Amino acid sequence: MALMTGKEYIESIRKLDQKVYMFGERVEDPTRNPILRPSLNSVRMTYDLAFQEEYRDLMTVISPETGQRINRFTHIHRSSEDLVNKVKMQRLLGQKTASCFQRCVGMDAFNAVYSTTYETDQVHGTGYFKNFQNFMLYVQENDLTVDGAMTDPKGDRSLPPHAQEDPDLFLRVVVRRPDGIVVRGAKVHQTGAVNSHEILVMPTIALGPEDQDYAVSFAVPSDEKGIFMVVGRQSCDTRKTENAPMDVGNQKFGGMEALIVFDNVFIPNERIFLNGETDFSGMMVERFAGYHRQSYGGCKVGVGDVLIGAAALAADYNSIPKASHIKDKLIEMTHLNETLYCCGIACSSEGVPTKSGNYMIDLLLANVCKQNVTRFPYEITRLAEDIAGGLMVTAPSQADIRNPELKPYIEKYLKGNKNVPTENRLKILRLLENLTLGTAAVGYRTESLHGAGSPQAQRIMIARQGNLLEKKELAKQIAGISEE
Ligand code: SF4
Ligand code: FE
Repeated sequence: MALMTGKEYIESIRKLDQKVYMFGERVEDPTRNPILRPSLNSVRMTYDLAFQEEYRDLMTVISPETGQRINRFTHIHRSSEDLVNKVKMQRLLGQKTASCFQRCVGMDAFNAVYSTTYETDQVHGTGYFKNFQNFMLYVQENDLTVDGAMTDPKGDRSLPPHAQEDPDLFLRVVVRRPDGIVVRGAKVHQTGAVNSHEILVMPTIALGPEDQDYAVSFAVPSDEKGIFMVVGRQSCDTRKTENAPMDVGNQKFGGMEALIVFDNVFIPNERIFLNGETDFSGMMVERFAGYHRQSYGGCKVGVGDVLIGAAALAADYNSIPKASHIKDKLIEMTHLNETLYCCGIACSSEGVPTKSGNYMIDLLLANVCKQNVTRFPYEITRLAEDIAGGLMVTAPSQADIRNPELKPYIEKYLKGNKNVPTENRLKILRLLENLTLGTAAVGYRTESLHGAGSPQAQRIMIARQGNLLEKKELAKQIAGISEE
């Protein structure tokens, strides 16, 4: 079974014995919870589309390891074309879900850990690459969803892990045993945690020799003893419990994030991919971040497509699609959105092989991609809200519209174009609200800023990769300056 159907995926998550908390209480079956279910539906889309003939080549590949058809989300990129197809797949899924579909963190962690374990073994004579390959085959053969877990709480930002007053603020090894390790700590903002079968943990920063216990990478089932999750609140999340789908905006799909606590969790030796080799922590972090910054040139563009479409419909429903300023705003939104796509495609096309043979994006271009993502979706959102008008945030609820006494008045006074039912106009405004201010804003607006690293993290990488020395040389040559 190298490909699971969407239905089988849901069943497989239902079988897990995860400890999930929300609003102070344990959630017994997250797959049936109305707040969490939309996020599960988004991941499900990565399974469903793999069975649709028109998307098969984008969503699946033949595994070079097993010769079986596998989902691209479990694939190790073997060419620039693979990298480009990854971005195209993410745009497609953004278009189909208008939210974060969560499965990319695992794919990005996969590719970062694959090449880093290979290079760690070369220097340290460790056996991590084999461990990782076995885990990878298990994931590919069972078509699993993996949460790539990087972000530690970090406590006092001015101190390295070992100098923190509370040593658990970065996830660490607390016990070393002959058969494995025991780890303690937490990972924050974990995208898709409750919808993942496995958690692939990586360090969060480059580490020095004193931080040996923090240089740790491993994979663990998401329902392992000692692991529990606390689901993060999202704006307007309880609207999903009100049985008023119209008020939600995006009725079917959403994203989710959680705080994952590792309370003395045992990891057997064969699931360990880094254990004390601090000199390779930075490589793992840089590569994961690079791949995930590339990802944003796909997923956010797909969500942007839906947002632009919604803004254009809002204009149509107001009978102003021909107004020149509306046309110009839609052009600007498209220009910004496609610029992000250009960045995603460019860093992929310029991909290079690593020592292990898998392909890395161009790191400078991937960081430029994400830096633009920290800005452009804000402007796209601003323009969408501009076109939508104030009714986006003042419209009455579904219950009011369904009230027979109020309905005629709402129909009458909130009508735009006479040929468009008022309800359709309000539905599009709710979708715009969802994308810009509601639950999907986590996956579009604020996540564009902080996901895959906050803006400053990219600026550090741009400074490192920008090759200012070479640029100075170019200027000297043109200006006729020779300094012997
Ligand atoms: Fe995938 Fe985008 Fe969500 Fe990251 S933010 S997991 S790249 S959809
Ligand atoms: Fe993200």
